[in-house]
Amino acid sequence: MQSGSAPPADVYRAPVGTHDVLPPESGRWAALVAAFAGRAARFGYGLVMTPAYEHIEVFQRVGEGTDVVRKEMYEFEDKGGRRLALRPEGTAPVVRAYIQHRPTPPWKVWYLSPHFRHEKAQRGRYRQHHQLGVEVLGVDDPALDVEVISLAHGFLTALGLSRFRLAINSLGDDQCRPGYLEALRSYLRAHADELCADSRSRLETNPLRVLDCKVPACVAVTERAPQLLEHLCADCKTHFEAVQAGLDAIGVPHEIAPRLVRGLDYYTRTTFEFASEALESAQNALGGGGRYDKLAEEMGGPPSPGIGFGIGIERVLIACDAEGVLPAPAPHLDAYVVDAVGPEAAAEVTALLAELRETGLSADRAYGGRSVRAQTKAADRAGARYVVLVGRAEMEKGAVAVRDMVSGEQVEVARNRVVTWLHERLDPGIDDIAPEDPGR
Ligand code: AMP
Repeated sequence: MQSGSAPPADVYRAPVGTHDVLPPESGRWAALVAAFAGRAARFGYGLVMTPAYEHIEVFQRVGEGTDVVRKEMYEFEDKGGRRLALRPEGTAPVVRAYIQHRPTPPWKVWYLSPHFRHEKAQRGRYRQHHQLGVEVLGVDDPALDVEVISLAHGFLTALGLSRFRLAINSLGDDQCRPGYLEALRSYLRAHADELCADSRSRLETNPLRVLDCKVPACVAVTERAPQLLEHLCADCKTHFEAVQAGLDAIGVPHEIAPRLVRGLDYYTRTTFEFASEALESAQNALGGGGRYDKLAEEMGGPPSPGIGFGIGIERVLIACDAEGVLPAPAPHLDAYVVDAVGPEAAAEVTALLAELRETGLSADRAYGGRSVRAQTKAADRAGARYVVLVGRAEMEKGAVAVRDMVSGEQVEVARNRVVTWLHERLDPGIDDIAPEDPGR
């Protein structure tokens, strides 16, 4: 840029594929995250936070054969010459942290994090998106697979979503998968001329990914391909049956999807995906995950089986729009302090507002010496339940006027009683508390 010339208009817009989240839309994010955090806590998961970037090897190790790592990663060199990458996915950093800190297994954690992928930006597909997820390390018990899947399933249901399906599959382990991959490879080789160019090139390096290809010609070939489920060894078969039985026992509907594979290389055994029927099929995945029993070892740690999932927040919100659930919460305040006096009452208004807030009520006021009418309008816009009016006549009597914004009724209340008076009317009884309701 030459000095003095204006920067291009685009510089002051969020970069392509990213977006700002402002109120009231951010209220839905807050409700969604609170619902997830509450549910994760009830299942015994603690919050984990890892850096937004890692040494590039953390991701390269887990996704050599994947687009997410090979083509879409935001890589950079820092001023110290270190090769780093912005987090494209959530599992590798958590496993890296597990290996580094060696917490006592089972280690059950949840996260909320931005993920960065240099994708072709479109609705539902962004270059920075956000995921809510969990990871558990140190246990391969199929009951844990059931716990993790039901945590995700119940979360989506609690938001009000109903038009989604849960697909599950088993990818086997290093006992049975190599034999299957050979069978798949030779089948695909025999049909190579019917496959798209991408699938043809993946056939040798990563034949499982060919099962994932959405090109109709490839789908036609893979529909008849040998299925992993027919090649599972006895241990993997028993494990997968136990997962299905567990999901049945708690009434989590699921479908077996023999061709369900996941984008990243490290999955073993149970793999699963939630797809919305309310969204276009190219962007209908709400979330997914699976087992990665060899990942910790591959990253240089002790043998530690693991399982987890990631759910895309933006995607879930688009599904909520499509199903007409989880609207942005209407603005709400318990009280709004209106100043009808001016500078002489400044200290009184400040003290009253502080008292309301510090005792646990939501309260606000207008600033900048606006008229009583403008302040009352602002109170209405803010969704105030009560307006507490500081007026000259009331002040002289040691009182304030309180208007119920629903009934329109106005009463005078002693200044030293008003905070208790409001609490008596606003604090919910135990019966009113609905912890599962994410809209609260
Ligand atoms: P993945 O890590 O690819 O399994 O993605 C987990 C979930 O994150 C997906 O099911 C989507 O809901 C969401 N997701 C993945 N990539 C994107 C993206 N580029 N933009 C928005 N959401 C995404």
